[in-house]
Amino acid sequence: MTTSPIFSMIAREQQRQTECINLIASENYASKNILSAAGSILTNKYAEGYPGRRYYGGCSIIDEVESYAIEQGKKLFGCEHMNVQPHSGSSANFAAYFSLLKPGDTILGMQLSAGGHLTHGYPLNFSGTMFKAISYGVNPDTECLDYDEIEKLAQEHQPKMIIAGASAYARLIDYEKLAAIAQQTKSILLVDMAHIAGLIAAKLIPSPFEYADIVTSTTHKTLRGPRGGVICSKNPHAKSIDRAIIPGTQGGPLMHIIAAKAIAFEEAQSPSFITYQQQVIKNAQAMAHAFKDMGYKIVSGGTDTHLFLVDLRSKFNDVTGKLAEEVLGQCNIIINRNTVPGDTQSPMITSGMRIGTPAMTTRGFKEKEIQELTSLINDIIVHRTDQTYLQKTQKHIIQWASQFPIPC
Ligand SMILES: *Cc1c(COP(=O)(O)O)cnc(C)c1O
Repeated sequence: MTTSPIFSMIAREQQRQTECINLIASENYASKNILSAAGSILTNKYAEGYPGRRYYGGCSIIDEVESYAIEQGKKLFGCEHMNVQPHSGSSANFAAYFSLLKPGDTILGMQLSAGGHLTHGYPLNFSGTMFKAISYGVNPDTECLDYDEIEKLAQEHQPKMIIAGASAYARLIDYEKLAAIAQQTKSILLVDMAHIAGLIAAKLIPSPFEYADIVTSTTHKTLRGPRGGVICSKNPHAKSIDRAIIPGTQGGPLMHIIAAKAIAFEEAQSPSFITYQQQVIKNAQAMAHAFKDMGYKIVSGGTDTHLFLVDLRSKFNDVTGKLAEEVLGQCNIIINRNTVPGDTQSPMITSGMRIGTPAMTTRGFKEKEIQELTSLINDIIVHRTDQTYLQKTQKHIIQWASQFPIPC
């Protein structure tokens, strides 16, 4: 039997993950049990349909798996209905829109450049081509959501759906206010909690479930499960959401991933998960604070969640987000470049960094390591042209990161 080169690529990627400090806000490390379910023989089974209503034979055990995942997911978030079949966060949004909107309907979502997601109405995404997409940003002074602006846009455009949720926004979202706006304009309120699902599961930040008609999510970000999505809804929407997944937008479900989602929902109900999420927020706040102490401006002044944005223009006039990402990457520290409010650089270059703490908190980082890491990041940017310094620092980070192993 020959061994595929893929296995040595996986081994090299495992080494890379071990030897890097990962500050990507949307990434995390799934547990050994989750990896094991995701890599299981459940991948062999076709199961189009839903438990008890399948288009394939041999689904009795698969039915148990999916029913258990739904039961655990509903218990975790306290929602009426959950569909666990979406292959990703984007597929979850696609199906949710498909169930509730017609092509040409107006949607109101957050601008990508202000921290929103592609699927919230970006012109090149399906959401921007199939629907008439209107977008809201952040207030230029507070750099926070401006509910008066959202209300004004809703009044003016009467959207069929208002979409809340973000990929690069550090502050809490006032779902009650958004629901009040949606009620005035008779819009559906969809909350996409992809980034913050873990914090909501741990009840550390407000939950959208009381206010939103539909809640979509990924399962692999703060929630720390396998790569995938879910759609939660109130009972009246249940049938149409299920139909929008199959036959609407997907074929057979990924049963190995659904099994892994069930384990993630179980794990998220344990007391240690709450402790973990508390530390995620503590680490993000400690890190934002440490950056401020070194003279960096943090967008909106800080964070209430697992991530924050650093405005590099506040400290250097010649360091773009792209340059920071590259020079930190040379030293095995992985961040995202990100646009900041009022950015004059293109989205490929940007003037900011997006930094998140979920991944390194899983590996055991606490405030002490966060302090050390933040001053290292500053030193690396300051010494960005000193190759000897950069090489020495990369060696140090490899050593350091390897002391905080990843689950595998
Ligand atoms: C990550 C994200 C998604 C999409 O998830 P994928 O699994 O990458 O498709 C959708 N919405 C928001 C707000 C996100 O942050």
